[in-house]
Amino acid sequence: MVETDTPNRVAIVTGSSRGIGRAIALELARGGHHIVVNCKSNLGAAQEVQEEAMSCGVRALVVQADVTVEADVKSLVEATCAELGRIDVLVNNAGVLQDTFLAFMSEQQWDTVLDVNLKSAFLCSKHASKVMAKQRWGRIINISSAAGLMGDTMRTNYSAAKAGLLGFTKAAARELAARGVTVNAVAPGFIETDMTAEMPVPRKEQALARIPMQRFGAPDDVARLIAFLAGDKAAYITGQVLSVDGGLHM
Ligand code: NAP
Repeated sequence: MVETDTPNRVAIVTGSSRGIGRAIALELARGGHHIVVNCKSNLGAAQEVQEEAMSCGVRALVVQADVTVEADVKSLVEATCAELGRIDVLVNNAGVLQDTFLAFMSEQQWDTVLDVNLKSAFLCSKHASKVMAKQRWGRIINISSAAGLMGDTMRTNYSAAKAGLLGFTKAAARELAARGVTVNAVAPGFIETDMTAEMPVPRKEQALARIPMQRFGAPDDVARLIAFLAGDKAAYITGQVLSVDGGLHM
């Protein structure tokens, strides 16, 4: 077991088979948290994250669950409690893009993006916060986006979902503060993952031109902030939105 001031804390990271979620899961594992790795479909990738987490000396579980489906979310929370005994940290990280111009956006593109990026945080927080409230200790961290703060073209669905997460964060922070549970949001800018790899080159160039630091971030840049917010040193921080974006939004 690694040296830590957070022995036996348990963290669920949704969408942690890849990208930012993977980096968060491994950073929390390095800090001594037992980890629940969640994915929708990439079970092999999730199992690799599980093995890497376990090599840090902590326990790790893989739960395949679609976080837009309440029955799946209940199973995720129940499996965590059954196997690891508690839930201290929930990182609502799962997300998708379905980019297109407003005039051409289908109802399905709107609904899918709202469900994966916003409804999932409601469902996971609803079920995990019951456990945290009983423990009188918890951390919920919602992964929003610079798009939620500034808006982004071809992303009315995604920008609305990520802005919705900010209102959700503040309301939940007020509700859960008396139970010892903090709720914060992190708004990454452009981070090198599969999600940004799909961006067409001209859009990437436009994005780079708007970033004062003139580069995309790495998943670990986000993960280190999450680890801080998940720990005891962030005890008096709640209802906040913190950007990790090279100065994109200020
Ligand atoms: P990514 O590389 O595309 O990974 C997405 C993750 O979400 C995968 O683990 C995927 O699982 C999981 N997922 C998708 N739908 C799911 C569902 N219904 N149920 C459970 N898991 C689901 O994305 P990323 O770039 O790391 O982004 C992570 C978060 O950061 C997202 O919320 C995203 O909006 C946000 N963000 C990213 C950036 C960026 O520049 N990358 C910027 C701002 C905010 P599978 O592997 O099984 O598909």
